[in-house]
Amino acid sequence: MRSGLISQRMTEVEGAMSAVVPAVSVVVPIYNEVESIPHLLEAIASTLTASDLSYEIICVDDGSTDGSADFLRKEAQIRSDLKAIILRRNYGQTAAMSAGFNHALGKAIVTLDADLQNDPVDIPLLLAKLEEGYDLVSGWRKNRQDGALKRLLPSKIANWLIRRTTSVNIHDYGCSLKAYRAELVADMNLYGELHRFLPALAYIEGARITEIPVRHHARRFGQSKYGLSRTFRVLMDLLTILFMKKFLTRPMHVFGLWGMISMLAGGAIAIYLTFLKLAFHENIGDRPLLILAVLLLLTGVQLFCFGLLAELLMRTYHESQGRPIYRVREVVTKSVK
Ligand code: UDP
Ligand code: MG
Repeated sequence: MRSGLISQRMTEVEGAMSAVVPAVSVVVPIYNEVESIPHLLEAIASTLTASDLSYEIICVDDGSTDGSADFLRKEAQIRSDLKAIILRRNYGQTAAMSAGFNHALGKAIVTLDADLQNDPVDIPLLLAKLEEGYDLVSGWRKNRQDGALKRLLPSKIANWLIRRTTSVNIHDYGCSLKAYRAELVADMNLYGELHRFLPALAYIEGARITEIPVRHHARRFGQSKYGLSRTFRVLMDLLTILFMKKFLTRPMHVFGLWGMISMLAGGAIAIYLTFLKLAFHENIGDRPLLILAVLLLLTGVQLFCFGLLAELLMRTYHESQGRPIYRVREVVTKSVK
């Protein structure tokens, strides 16, 4: 039992905390979307107010040149539900989202695009699903309103590839409309254009992930910020993710194994050739097999050393940031009353 004064102080602090901790922070990355923003703010505010949810909207201006930043600056001074984060230049959607995450105070975090393609009406549905005990609920644009050849086809292929390789079983990785538990977001570091792989990163962190179908609309204002070149970048990011998933805590198991196999194979061939030379006095200097043996031996040593170096790097990675190699979902003890 807490003693009187402390108990009262604690209740005050808890009260003050719950006053500033909204149920949900809505994070919106914005790059040249000035026409859409007023509609978007309106739609988010009316939906969340109607659902009786306390919320904050965090608009991150990613170096827009069309006046989005000025508009946000003005709005944020009037509205109490809006926080505007203005970045110094255009860093890309991932960085903008990451800035939003870092400023979000909510218990849950919802991300969506500023271009009105995602519909804020779906936010309460995502949150309800999150309440069922998930850490991440992803939107699935079942009726996607984008061009067929340039958008849908690459996206279908990318989704298939990602599903095959990351063991996260959802239909639509590219949908920005997602809801996260705040603790999960705090554990994830974003780089490059990894926002598309947030479910995969979350999976590495041990999150429970699910999806629900969400609405999707065609772009009303402005134009998409991405072209076909995105496909290549997605593929490269996929490789990074695969690497992270496999090797993050035990690189030596993988590199060491292949290094060992390569060295053993090279060694066996070398012994065979030496035997031929010594026992039968055969000429082995011009045999392709000799080159193979040398190649395998060298590759093996390299892989082995690479594994050792990776082990060192992983230790630095975990220890320098105080990142444990596990994630705790909950700690249960008999509570002291
Ligand atoms: N965006 C951003 N920085 C960028 C590119 C895009 O913040 O460098 C934002 C953009 O304003 C939008 C979201 O990211 O809110 C998704 O962009 P877009 O709608 O162009 O992508 P698409 O829907 O075509 O995949
Ligand atoms: Mg869009």
